[in-house]
Order: sequence, then structure tokens, then C-alpha cells
Amino acid sequence: MAEEEVRQERKFVKVKNAKSRFIKIKCPDCNSEQVTFIRASSVVNCSVCGSKLAVPTGGNIAVAGEIVGEI
Ligand SMILES: [Zn+2]
Repeated sequence: MAEEEVRQERKFVKVKNAKSRFIKIKCPDCNSEQVTFIRASSVVNCSVCGSKLAVPTGGNIAVAGEIVGEI
């Protein structure tokens, strides 16, 4: 049932311990780096390949890519 719903779900991990308000996320698909507000209220997509990098949680965002820095 609902086989068309099957897709690769990426695991999103909520950001903790961030000292800054902006973080740099590395896109797991194309390896480009993108800066985003840590409490963003909308989905963050990679500006290069469009992959979903982060989702809002109400508090800190949850990210799929690797956090490579804080701004
Ligand atoms: Zn990308």
C-alpha cells in the first residue's frame, strides 16, 4: 500500500550547543556549504542542488547535512 510514498528519508538532527545564531551546513549531496539562521522558521534548501538541508522545529532547526562551522 502507498508504495509511491517510499522515498529516501534523510535523518534530521536538531542543532544543540550552538554558540552562534548562524551555522554553516555542508550539503550531503553536492558538498557545497550554506549559511543559515539557526532558528529559521522555514525549510532550508541547498542553493546549488536544491536538496533539503534543514527543517524548522520551533526552536533550533534540525539539519541533515554536516555542520562545518558557526558564523
Ligand atoms: Zn547541494
